[in-house]
Amino acid sequence: MGGKQRSRFLRVRCSDCGSEQSVYSHVSSVVRCKVCSKTLAVPHGGKAEIKATILEAME
Ligand SMILES: [Zn+2]
Repeated sequence: MGGKQRSRFLRVRCSDCGSEQSVYSHVSSVVRCKVCSKTLAVPHGGKAEIKATILEAME
């Protein structure tokens, strides 16, 4: 097991409307909530900066 970061999906919950959805851990564009359009993730140095509650990470 190395410390290398791998891409994966994150299960997040929108803090505004409470809907859950999956967000890729490395995004190249802003990801918005499909229900209320709140920003859930923004690209940050090749990685996603998550702006919502992370529930779990899925490999
Ligand atoms: Zn929402």
